[in-house]
Amino acid sequence: MTVTQSQRRANLIAVIAPFVIFVVATVVFWGSFVDATDIFVFVLMYLIAGFGITIGYHRLMTHRAFQSYKTIEYLFAIAGSMAVQGPVIDWVADHRKHHAHSDVEGDPHSPHVDAGDGWLGSLSGLYHAHMGWLFVNNGQAWRRKYAPDLMEDKGLRKINKNFRWIVLLGIFMPFIIGLAITGTIEGALMAALWGGPIRIFFQHHVTWSINSICHFFGRRRFDVDDHSTNVFWLALPSLGESWHHNHHAFPRSAAHGLKWWEIDLSALLIKAMRLTGVAWNVTLISADRQKAKLAGPAIGLREDKEKLAA
Ligand SMILES: [Zn+2]
Ligand SMILES: [Zn+2]
Repeated sequence: MTVTQSQRRANLIAVIAPFVIFVVATVVFWGSFVDATDIFVFVLMYLIAGFGITIGYHRLMTHRAFQSYKTIEYLFAIAGSMAVQGPVIDWVADHRKHHAHSDVEGDPHSPHVDAGDGWLGSLSGLYHAHMGWLFVNNGQAWRRKYAPDLMEDKGLRKINKNFRWIVLLGIFMPFIIGLAITGTIEGALMAALWGGPIRIFFQHHVTWSINSICHFFGRRRFDVDDHSTNVFWLALPSLGESWHHNHHAFPRSAAHGLKWWEIDLSALLIKAMRLTGVAWNVTLISADRQKAKLAGPAIGLREDKEKLAA
């Protein structure tokens, strides 16, 4: 099953449009461009859509790392849709497939599958993982196989179906907030630009970096078979998702940052939700379980063997 022509076009627009708008806006408005309201709506919308993805789409709906009320789940699904990374059920199916086939045949966005040799091969693999896959594999995981639980949920099906309207809502909201703060149409439009396309542009590249950079550069410490890595400099903008190697080691963990210095804002919010009774059955990994999975000398031996064999 491949992506249809119209899906390909929609993906292309979703990827290119925010980038073009960003470049044009930077040139046109240079010097007089941005004020406190714009930054405020940018950050606000970034956090709403961002936590919608990291806590809602990913940790709650893909991995069931904790439980919550249905209403809360739907709110997170709506918030995540505003990140314009595809409808919730498609996203979850793709991501579960990624975990089922990490960095081997069948992984929708691995930088290592079918990548050629040398630095050119690495580069093309990274491009495929970052955004090339969106034009080939995006939304193609079999939903009935990978997300039957979500398919059974009437509310989620509805949210999935209305994806494009929620995307528009994600641009309309900053417009209204801008209007309320500045009282002018210009102010509202600028807020819509910062809270809409510019925010979407940044968020896209941060999320895609998890698929590309966090399967390529960075540090590892657990005994897992894929190429996932922890990347500290992406921790803040990715709201904790760049502790991606930890996540592949313990996919059900509600926290991806496992050490005190591994900043994970999504885990902090889930903790706050647990303390206020909004989240329960939160899966956390004990120090003993982490220790048991640490890559021991056996791993080093295996790598040495591979080197010898090469
Ligand atoms: Zn991964
Ligand atoms: Zn995951």
